[in-house]
Amino acid sequence: MRIVAWITILLLAAPAGALAWDGHDRLTRLALADVAWLDSLPPVLVTTRTDRVSEIRQDYAFPYKGERQGDQLAARLILERYAMEPDDGPDQELRVSWQQRFMGGYTGMSSRGYFHMYYPSWTVHFPLPATAMGAAPDRAALWCEAAKAALARGDTYWGLRYLACAMHYVEDLGQPYHATQTSTRFVVPTSPIAGTTKVTSNYHLAYEAWIARRVAEDALELGQALRGIDLEKFDDPADAVRRVARKAHEQSGQLFGACIEFFGDRFRQPVDVPATETDLARMEPAGPRDRMIAATRPALALTARAIRGFLEPLRPAIQFSVLEGARRPRP
Ligand SMILES: [Zn+2]
Repeated sequence: MRIVAWITILLLAAPAGALAWDGHDRLTRLALADVAWLDSLPPVLVTTRTDRVSEIRQDYAFPYKGERQGDQLAARLILERYAMEPDDGPDQELRVSWQQRFMGGYTGMSSRGYFHMYYPSWTVHFPLPATAMGAAPDRAALWCEAAKAALARGDTYWGLRYLACAMHYVEDLGQPYHATQTSTRFVVPTSPIAGTTKVTSNYHLAYEAWIARRVAEDALELGQALRGIDLEKFDDPADAVRRVARKAHEQSGQLFGACIEFFGDRFRQPVDVPATETDLARMEPAGPRDRMIAATRPALALTARAIRGFLEPLRPAIQFSVLEGARRPRP
């Protein structure tokens, strides 16, 4: 097969609408609900951005989502409100690596794919199986450095907002589809590259749509899987993403099997198979659903432990920042 054809096909590997867990706000809120020290922080003053985050799309405008400069906001509210922000544009339309060709391309919404996924070197993936692919670990480190710098100068609002952005990548990689390019279960023998890619994408998108709705409704006690105070331990932000990806990948076999059973063969076609809200609502046969829930709970629990483990080392810097901020003259 000519190289151009390979590239065209593999561009499809990152579904355009893929959002990992979709509702990053709800995910973050539930994962941090029992972290009590966040409640001891005084409300945080909303400030104007005065710095620049390198390497992201420089014309991204960082819009406020509801608050205004001069408002006061609870720290945990900033974290949950902005955990979604990296999906809103700062990672799109960038050209930094050849790997982007194989992880969403260079343009449009799917161009953030390369920054929001990570395939560990030992997993099966194209085109270089022995090389780790994806920049999510680097992205978490980048935003975390920006967060630390803002916190150190007493700008707690931007420190927390950047930290929420850093957490986004840990959350994304807790979703097994983001840590796994495909699986033998999705292989289409008659169309091993294009067909397999499409089938993987179909199940990936159907799963995300289904689970987003379930977590939003707090149905089937999925929210409970996110609650708690236990946490993962990491060496640094990039290590956090890599380690979560490794564990999520290990869960992928169980989840993918459950998805095939739950969503059925309809998504096994090597063409786009859209799943509407109504379609997804109908897919509730009891047996396969239980298997889906059983496969999803560990992934949510891992993601939540990772969120808490990612935040914990930043706790002294956040507390220091609040004190520094209080000493600064108010505008
Ligand atoms: Zn993302």
